[in-house]
Amino acid sequence: CGIVGYVGEKQAAPILLDGLSKLEYRGYDSAGIAVYNGEEIGMKKSKGRLKVLSELTHDGEMMPGMIGIGHTRWATHGEPSDINAHPHFNKDQSIVVVHNGIIENYLKLKKKLTAKGYEFISDTDTEVIAHLLDYYYHGNPLQTITKIMHRMEGSYALGIMFKDHPDELYAVRKDSPLIVGESERGCIIASDVPAVLKYTRDVYFIENEEIVRMTKDSMEFFNVDEEQIEKESTHIDWDV
Ligand code: GLU
Repeated sequence: CGIVGYVGEKQAAPILLDGLSKLEYRGYDSAGIAVYNGEEIGMKKSKGRLKVLSELTHDGEMMPGMIGIGHTRWATHGEPSDINAHPHFNKDQSIVVVHNGIIENYLKLKKKLTAKGYEFISDTDTEVIAHLLDYYYHGNPLQTITKIMHRMEGSYALGIMFKDHPDELYAVRKDSPLIVGESERGCIIASDVPAVLKYTRDVYFIENEEIVRMTKDSMEFFNVDEEQIEKESTHIDWDV
């Protein structure tokens, strides 16, 4: 179970695949990536080893774009399968999310969303996050993320992209690990430090219920009240 995300001046897919390979030690049963090329959010995911995903995407070459998210899944809700693998989309594929952790109240949320007309295609707890984001989204990603944080119980580290905010990558966590690194050529998020060391040694440790908004040359942190907060980076001087 690992998360990576990248926004910058380079092609995202190879960076995502490389980052996921550095998180393999955490264990997983499936893997997937979503990359946004400015027009469409492309997604590839599959049960099995990362090698399968690399082959599916021709080492990422088939998925152009400079912003994206990736995931290795350790199934907790729903068997390991292509459909249950992350990322997960909302209904019109304009919001996409990867998730580590467990949404404890997902059945209650699923019931509510189903009553509102949402259709679920996977058996994961994660899919409620995609539909919940859709339900509360009115053009302001940050506001929507804080809204769903009040609705979700359990643990989560999330990477999120919104189609109508093509330059922005969002991340948030509670009780699942997530760090973010800043380099001259972009920002990268990951579950753990080894996945980012190739790109930067300056990382921020995201605390519980902190939200990050990244573009290729900016990084801002917010609390659950949408207030901007200051954070200090840590210089990593050890190697893996
Ligand atoms: N609970 C989610 C699932 O089963 C995420 C698991 C994970 O952390 O990889 O799909």
